[in-house]
Order: sequence, then C-alpha cells, then structure tokens
Amino acid sequence: MSYRDQTASAFRASASASAFAWLACMAMLLFVAPMALAQDKPVSGTDPRHPLEIEALTSPQEVLRKLPAARAALDAQDYEGQAKLALAEANACRVTADWSCQRRAGSVAMEAADHTKSVYLQVRSRIALGRALSRLGDFSNASRLLTEARQRLGAEKNDALMADVLLAYSSISARLGKLDESYRYAREGLAYAPPATQPEMHIRLLRNMAKVASDTGRAREAQALLRQAEPLLPAVEDPKLTAEILLEEANAARVLGDADTVEERGRRIGAIGGGLENTQIRGLGFETIGHAHRMRGERGQAYAEYTKARDAFAGLRLYRDELRAVREIVDLQLAGVSREHLADTTARLMMLTDEVARIERESAAADFEERLRFVQSEAALAAAKTLVENERLRATVSENRFRYSLVGGALVFCILAGVIALYRQQRRYAGAMRERGREMEIAIATDFLTAVHSRRHITEAGHAAVANAIAHGHHFAIAVVDIDHFKRINDKFGHAVGDDVLKAVAAAMREVCRDTDTLGRYGGEEFAVLLQGIGEEHALPAAERLRLAVAGVSVRVGDQVITPTASVGVACLTPGDKGFDTLLIRADRALYKAKAEGRDRVVLAGDIGDDASSHDQF
Ligand code: GH3
Ligand code: MG
Ligand code: MG
Repeated sequence: MSYRDQTASAFRASASASAFAWLACMAMLLFVAPMALAQDKPVSGTDPRHPLEIEALTSPQEVLRKLPAARAALDAQDYEGQAKLALAEANACRVTADWSCQRRAGSVAMEAADHTKSVYLQVRSRIALGRALSRLGDFSNASRLLTEARQRLGAEKNDALMADVLLAYSSISARLGKLDESYRYAREGLAYAPPATQPEMHIRLLRNMAKVASDTGRAREAQALLRQAEPLLPAVEDPKLTAEILLEEANAARVLGDADTVEERGRRIGAIGGGLENTQIRGLGFETIGHAHRMRGERGQAYAEYTKARDAFAGLRLYRDELRAVREIVDLQLAGVSREHLADTTARLMMLTDEVARIERESAAADFEERLRFVQSEAALAAAKTLVENERLRATVSENRFRYSLVGGALVFCILAGVIALYRQQRRYAGAMRERGREMEIAIATDFLTAVHSRRHITEAGHAAVANAIAHGHHFAIAVVDIDHFKRINDKFGHAVGDDVLKAVAAAMREVCRDTDTLGRYGGEEFAVLLQGIGEEHALPAAERLRLAVAGVSVRVGDQVITPTASVGVACLTPGDKGFDTLLIRADRALYKAKAEGRDRVVLAGDIGDDASSHDQF
C-alpha cells in the first residue's frame, strides 16, 4: 500500500470512528436531552361534567344524598374525581340556594382541581367558589377568584369557560349594584356562548341582561331579550332556570301592563313548582297570578292567589317572600277586599318586617363569621399549599439537578470522545507526515537513476564541508568526473542503454570511494566527488582512481561492449578559496582542460586565476 493510500485509509478509519462516536453522542443527546429536560405542562381541554352535576340541576337533594357514597368510592389520589364531585355538590347547593354549602364545596373543588393539570377544573372550581362568596357578600375575594379563573384560562380558547367567567362577573356586578357593568359582562359573554352550542349559558347571560334592563326601567328591551331565551328553554333540562326566565318575563309584562302574559307566566311557574315539588316556586307562581288579577282589578281573585302564595312561603319560613305576599294582602284588605283578618295580617306584617330585619342583621353577622372562617381556612390552605409547593420545588430541583448532570455528563463524554478521536487522528496524521518527510528528504538527497547522492545534496554537503575544512584548516578536494562523448553512446545505442551506462559508471566509482568521500551526480553524465582530508599530494591519485574505475566499466549490448571513459578535473582547497563555489569552478576548469587535452585523463587545478585563460578557450 502506498504512503498516500496508507495515510488516506488511516484518516478514513479514524474519521469514521470519530464520526460514529459523534453520531452516537448526538443521537443520545437528541434522545436523552428532551426527555431529561421536558417539563410538566398543564393539560387543557373540556373535561366532561360528572353525571351527578347534571342531575343536581333537577334533583339537588337527591344528589346531596348520593355524594358521600360517591366520594367514598374514590381513590385518595384521584384529585380529578374529587374536584368533579365537589363541583357537582357546589351545583346542588346553588340550586337549593345554600350559599355556605356552595362555598365549602367550591373550596374543596378548587383545592382538588389545583392538584390536577386540568385548566377546566381549576377555572370552574374558582367560578363556583367565587359565585358562593359573591352571594355571601364577600365581593373582594369573589372577584379575586374570578380574576384568577380568567388568568388561568389565559390564552386557552375555551369559549364555554370564558362565558362562565363573564356570567359570574356579571352576577357579582349586579349584586354590587353596578348594573351597567353587569349588563356589559353578560353581553360580552354572549359572544362566547352561541345558542346552538351552549343554550343554557346563553339563557343565563340573557337573563342577567334582562334583569338589568327591567331594573333600569327598560321593560321592552328586557322582554325582547327574554323572547330570545324562551325558544332555547326546551333544549336545557333546568326547570329552575326556566322558572327564573318566566318570572323575569312576568316582571317585564307587569311593568308594561300586560296582565294576560303575567297570568300565563304565573301559571307556567306554578306548574314547574308542582313538577319539582318545590313549594317556593309554586308560591312564586301564585304570587305572579295574583299580580295579573290585581292589574285587571280583580281584587278578590288577587287576594285568593296572594293568600295561597303566603301560605306556601310561610310553610317554608321564607320570610322575605312571605313579607311581599302579606304586603299585597294587607294592601287589598285596606282597599276593602276583606276586613276579616286585617288585625291578624297587620300583626303578621309587623312581625315579618321585624323578622326580615333581624334575618338581615343575622345574615350580615353570619356573613362576617363566614368570611372570617373563609379567611382562616384560606390562610390554612395557603400554608398547606406552600408546604406542598416547597416539597414539590425541592423534588423538582433535585430531579432537575439529576437531569442536568445526566445531560451535562453526556455532553462532557461526547466532547472528550471527540477530542480523543481528533487527537489520535492528529497523531496518526503527524506520524505519517514525518515518515513522508523522511522519504521526501531521502528522495531529494538521492539521484533517482543511479542511487548516488543528488546534485542538491552534493551542493549542501559541499558547502558545509568546505566551511568546516576552512574553519579547522583541514585538507579538502573536489573531483568532477564527466563521461567522454556520452552523446555518441546515446545516439548509437539509445537513451535506455545510456542510462545503464550511467548506472554502471556510478556503481564503479562508488566502489573506489572511501567512506568519507561523497559521490553524487552533478548533471546529466557528470559526477562530483567530495574528498574529505585530501590535500595536493593525494588529490591526483584519488582522481586517477575514479578515472580508472570508469575506464574499467563495460556494458554489454547484444554482441557489442561499451567501454566508457571519463575526464576528471580535481581541485584542492587553497587559502585563496572563499568557499565551495570557487573550488567547484576551479575543478570545472580543470575538467575542461582535461577534455581539451584529449579526454580520459585527470587534470589538477591550479589557483583560481591560473587557468582562467585556458578556460576561456572553451
Ligand atoms: P564530452 O566528451 O565533450 O563530454 O561529450 P559529451 O557527448 O559527453 O557531452 P555533451 O555534454 O555534449 O553531451 C552530454 C549528453 O548526455 C547529452 C545528453 O543527451 C546526455 N544525457 C544527459 N543526461 C542523460 C541521462 O540521464 N541519460 C541518458 N541516457 N543521457 C543523458
Ligand atoms: Mg558533460
Ligand atoms: Mg561528457
């Protein structure tokens, strides 16, 4: 294998080895790094509601009874299940208008939801808790939770949740008396809750807008809004919501003096109350029908309906509702409808007024206590959350530390492997280069045809030897040997035979050279010999030995024999010589002289000036 091939294959082998190491490393990094560095990302989507939450719309009490068993069946770590059940409970509480219950359930839902990655559950639990707090009068925490819900929703395109958040904002604003804002939020929500896909949400938003319109004297607008809601009612199975819409419709109709509509809505409300066995809704139905009769001036019938309403509310101890009915009754009695029980009803009216005032006071106090409890539980929750969060952070940090050291280790390994591969390749390459350099040096110093030294080597060695001899005062001589009429040999036998003769002449001269002599091919058929330590007395014999060696060569070509001769010019180092060049010139001149004198002879050079004239002849 040639040098070039060896170097190339060594390079290829190490290059492919290092390429393989790098590829393996990169593949490992590509595979390991993303896995190691991957962070947990919250999962989003629209998780379905728990069946009990849907059931809560129609049978809230039933659902509240079923919940403990459903909860017990859940795994302690099933936070998603817990959050969904708590949302079902919060909804059941909402339907029964038990706001403290809803607050508790909302809190539980939120805590469980925050253990999950579900944005849906996190947002819905905040809305549920926020609604309860708003009903309990804790508006600042309620709106804080809604803001949080909105933030968690973030860039998430979840229209249903967005509409829910806006509905909650609208309700809070209404309770705070900010009617314009309430209306605006609800209207904004409509864009996120198209009637085709979210009829229930659409109805609730329209209801909020209609309420504001009614309360601000825009009865016709309220009616128009409710008319949009009505056709959607059959699509949703929420009788309470239907009753609310009907009640709003009746209110608007009452303001507009439309007694027939008021009565018709009253009957429908009553029917819903009957179906649900909900006495309060039934009472609201009687009250509404009573309003219709009063509008028509049918006092007796109005009186009868208000009485039924009063009895329904009284049975449930719904004092606020009863107070409204009793006011109407007293009013009618004073107008002369029936004076029978005026004293009793007046006494009842006074008692209810006191009672409602007391309830309001108590509920304010209860709200305060509720809020206090909320704040305390919030603080406890926050502390617990901080603990859990710290623990989680610690775990994440140590996990990340492990992940990073894994990736870092892999990286360091790859870099080291790469550096080692490169270093080894470099060393191999440098070794090959050194070898090649030596070969080159030898090639440069050797004559390719005759294998004696090259002209370049003779020149360099000659300069060094002359400088050394001058410095140390040693003898030194140079002989220049030129084959006679070599051209004729070439012409007669061809160039290849000429080459053979050159090789034979070189070999013959090498035979008679001492170890300290340096023989080289100086030109085509011209040789030079550096003769170390040879002074005047030995120069001629040494040159003569060379001439005789050439004269002894015979090269057979077919039946012919070539016997070359050579002329030799020899010059010894004299004090006049500046260096190798002048010595060589003198030897050259002596050689020409030998040629001129008939060839096949040796001529010893004189001083530098001596034979200048004889050289000029040639
Ligand atoms: P002289 O006696 O005057 O030296 O006559 P010559 O013919 O030897 O001298 P000349 O310098 O005229 O011719 C030298 C010839 O040597 C010319 C050239 O073709 C031949 N020659 C030079 N280098 C080589 C070589 O490497 N191989 C061969 N075969 N011939 C060479
Ligand atoms: Mg010549
Ligand atoms: Mg010659």
